[in-house]
Amino acid sequence: MENAQTSIDGETRKVYAGCRSCHLNCPVWVTVKDGRAVKVEGDPKLGPPNMGKACVRASEAIQFEYSPTRLRYPLKRAGKRGEGKWERVSWDQAVDEIAAKIHEMVEKHGAETFVLPGRTGRHDMGWVAHRIARTIGTPNNYYGAIQVCYLPQFHEQVNYGFYTATGGGSAATKCHVSFSAEQAYAWPIQAQTIMANKENGMKLIVVDPVQGVYASKADEWVPVRPGTDVGLIMGMAKVIIDKGLYDKDYVVRWSNAPFLVRGDTGGLLLESDIVEGGSDKRFMVWDEKEDRLKYWDAEEIQWEGGPSGKAHYDHLVELFEENKTSTEKSPAADLPDSIMPALFGEHEVELCTRGGKITCIPAFQMLANNVAEWTPEHTESITGVPADQVERVATMIGTLKPVDINQGMQYMSTNVSQYVNAINVLKIITGSVDVAGGNVLGAFYPVTPHAFPSELDLSWADGLPLEQKRKRLGYYTHRVGCGYAWEEMVKWQPIRPQNADGAMLFPDLTSVMEAAETGRPYPVHGIIAISSNWLMHDPTLARWLKLLEDETKIELHVVTDVVMTPTAEMADYVLPAVTWMERNFLNFGTGGGSSPLHQAYNKAVEPLCEARHDYDFGAMLSKALGKYDKRYVEGRLNHEWTNHWAGEYGKFWPADTIDGQRDLLSREFLGMPFEDVLKRRVVAVPGADTPPSTERFLIAGKFPTDTGKANLFSTIHQKCGYPPLPVYIEPAESPLSRPDLAKDFPLVGSYGKRQAGFFHSEFRQLPWTREMTRTPDVFINPETAAQFGVAENDWIWVESPPTGGRAPYNKIMGKVSFRFMVAPGIVSYSQHAWWRPEKTVEEELHGAFEWNTEALIEVENNCPETGSGGYRSQICRIYKATEEDIARYRPEITREQLEALMPMTPEECAK
Ligand code: SF4
Repeated sequence: MENAQTSIDGETRKVYAGCRSCHLNCPVWVTVKDGRAVKVEGDPKLGPPNMGKACVRASEAIQFEYSPTRLRYPLKRAGKRGEGKWERVSWDQAVDEIAAKIHEMVEKHGAETFVLPGRTGRHDMGWVAHRIARTIGTPNNYYGAIQVCYLPQFHEQVNYGFYTATGGGSAATKCHVSFSAEQAYAWPIQAQTIMANKENGMKLIVVDPVQGVYASKADEWVPVRPGTDVGLIMGMAKVIIDKGLYDKDYVVRWSNAPFLVRGDTGGLLLESDIVEGGSDKRFMVWDEKEDRLKYWDAEEIQWEGGPSGKAHYDHLVELFEENKTSTEKSPAADLPDSIMPALFGEHEVELCTRGGKITCIPAFQMLANNVAEWTPEHTESITGVPADQVERVATMIGTLKPVDINQGMQYMSTNVSQYVNAINVLKIITGSVDVAGGNVLGAFYPVTPHAFPSELDLSWADGLPLEQKRKRLGYYTHRVGCGYAWEEMVKWQPIRPQNADGAMLFPDLTSVMEAAETGRPYPVHGIIAISSNWLMHDPTLARWLKLLEDETKIELHVVTDVVMTPTAEMADYVLPAVTWMERNFLNFGTGGGSSPLHQAYNKAVEPLCEARHDYDFGAMLSKALGKYDKRYVEGRLNHEWTNHWAGEYGKFWPADTIDGQRDLLSREFLGMPFEDVLKRRVVAVPGADTPPSTERFLIAGKFPTDTGKANLFSTIHQKCGYPPLPVYIEPAESPLSRPDLAKDFPLVGSYGKRQAGFFHSEFRQLPWTREMTRTPDVFINPETAAQFGVAENDWIWVESPPTGGRAPYNKIMGKVSFRFMVAPGIVSYSQHAWWRPEKTVEEELHGAFEWNTEALIEVENNCPETGSGGYRSQICRIYKATEEDIARYRPEITREQLEALMPMTPEECAK
């Protein structure tokens, strides 16, 4: 193996580093000449996830590193927010003043007055926000772009106990189904995997109203009407059930589909419902063999009449504590010969409690009932997908096994929770959850060892006392996404309570905004954004701007970031953060996860001027807060059962710097200093086992859920008062749900498509990227264009209804690009969170309102379960921009503007 740092000549060296221009953390070589990064390249020898390729975003990182938009010193606001007037201050002054203000505000309003918005996920730093939130004591922190994509992506853990991962299939995958994931741009590395598997015979089905690069390669492109995917899946489920194509063995053995559902309460029938002193961990099924009730015991991991898997499971837990695993199958993995739980039927059951006789049906029967009306013809009438295609695609999915299903991005609608329930149904009835070639459960299966705690593991929000957690905004109103679900799920995972935490716990965006506006249920006055351009990602930009302009509403707004952004322009303090080239990193994603191997990435160049890692800011802040109250430093808010690695490692700020913290962890878990770890590039935890990556349910004998099964019937939804199996709900602002508005807004916007080179709101200021992708394309069918009097390459306005506080920013510009493969009536706006670094702050906050689709989103009728808005299913209208509009907004980037964004020289960097 080559060294982590290879000298080419006296002044030039190659450094083994980890690209973090998107989520994947690919290993790359950075060539450094005279202390300056000059090249980023892949290397096939470096292995996954990029297998030697460095995508366009990695190459452009050089321009990001030296962008003139980089922040170099801590800045304190010297004028009004958004005026662009700043005073350079020292880190000490900035942090001391911030700490004093935080302390004063916590005393006055309570810790929950602070929110920590997280958006574009930099998970090598974003976890710091968790620690800062917990240090302050607020439950209102987000991890990632929650309502936009993170929540729906990981929401399925309410069904399986943990979320699944899809990498575009494997050699074993027969069929990959993608719901509107524009992989060619969003995940170019994953797109290569998909195409390689396709070459080997894997079928590719892409469900997307817009045929992009990726969909054009598909065996089946399914152009669904935006926001109606739930209906499509219900239609496909009906075909699969009617034709008997579901994986009966998997469904019966590994899902709760045979469990009986009470006709009176809608909950699952328990032994304690029918037998005095019966167990509430025994779920009742109807046994076809003996024509009577029998049970599955989730605690004993046992079918009635079969062997118990409990002793085996307990043994796995002991092994887990020693970082060991087993490949031995659980005795409870097989269904005993004496039982065959029924999937269909209706049964009268005598309760032992008040209520007498009730009718019960298996959850699978309930599903069959729910989809009964979804004939291919009915499905076509709602979704626009031709009936014969519904049948053909469903048959493919039901026949080609294993199937890998990527829920993608199409879900971004107000019915997202039901969408995830529907995807869950598709995954379970095709028997694909945690099977080889199917949807693999994430690395943290409770009984698979994870020998080395990542910073994420140590930072989940579960350390707050319950009464504080329950103050999370949205906790009681969006119960699956923001609160109550966690209280249930944390019971499922006693070994790793943090599994139930980080991906699920966040406040509801609209509730946060309303709390800031109205002071109810309590006022939000403080915002601390850790490397997050949150203002560009939040719907209803207009309402947030009004709040930020009013210093009696938002008393403190702190932003850390790598570059100046519209969000940072509205802050009181802006603190410079490091880039991925400027920090060392221990990667738990590549060769990490549940594996004992970890990649150690090296810093390639020194931080620009006074840029610091966000951890270092958090540690400083904690110390500064400690001047007012020692408990901020001592971790008073760190609840004792915080997580598996509680105690010493549960302390948030064990060192002053991130490298100091990693040194502590390296010495403890790897037996060597971090410096040595970095030299080795890949390190193994001594003595730790590598667990299997699939079919872990066979080994554990159960899924990490309340029922011990993959929950086809979502017990979380049911307990939270929401439908436990998918029901179709029309998007909140669609031509069908709002015909009154649709008279004036007759088109449907599907926003947030991808264009090459960007990552959410990032990289708009890179000349290479802007030469490639200068402006936001609006893909429309020529028929629609003709109807609305616009032509190819015209600048047009895309406009939403002004209601809900969207005005005056409820219209954005874009450039027409004809796509014959976009259904008529659909407006597909590429990208989201566009802003214009080529413009000054005086020019409407760097053009923050001109191209930002988030400003078009309605938030008042969002998803009841999760709070998600209608990002991809929002009515709109289009019309041509006038000459005056174009003269005013100057949408085309000019050569002068590009030149002004060119990388700084070494001399300029040093200023
Ligand atoms: S930007 Fe490209 S090279 Fe960098 S981590 Fe993402 S996929 Fe890998």
